[in-house]
Amino acid sequence: MVNGVFCIRLDSSDLTKGEIYVKNESQRAYEVVFKMKNGRAVCALDKSKFEANELAIITQCCFSAFKNIQLKREVEITGKCPNCSKPLSSDKITIAEKDLEIQEKDKTINDLTKKVRDLEREVSNERRSFSTFIQSQRYEGFY
Ligand SMILES: [Zn+2]
Repeated sequence: MVNGVFCIRLDSSDLTKGEIYVKNESQRAYEVVFKMKNGRAVCALDKSKFEANELAIITQCCFSAFKNIQLKREVEITGKCPNCSKPLSSDKITIAEKDLEIQEKDKTINDLTKKVRDLEREVSNERRSFSTFIQSQRYEGFY
């Protein structure tokens, strides 16, 4: 069986948490293993620093974190996880990237839907208090 990978979007706190920690993402908890260099998370392949908001690819075989370009390049040649040598295909990396893209789009849509609902509620409250105001004015004989 060929293991896959999953992608996570790193936030700034992810960069200094240390070697092994649990990342909560989309209601799931993942144990991820980062190589560290001078207290900063780096790609397990080329040891370049991860930056906030960057994608990290985590292999399901050993939960190692890589930069996608580095890992793809390596996996296309070897067909293996660079850390534990279990079989891995670059297609799985592409699928995981698309998956995260879709998740992020869904999240944006959900946020926007919520914003629209909040605005609708606000408008309907305004309308209600305005019509209450008009009625009270009528009552007092202004209209
Ligand atoms: Zn591995």
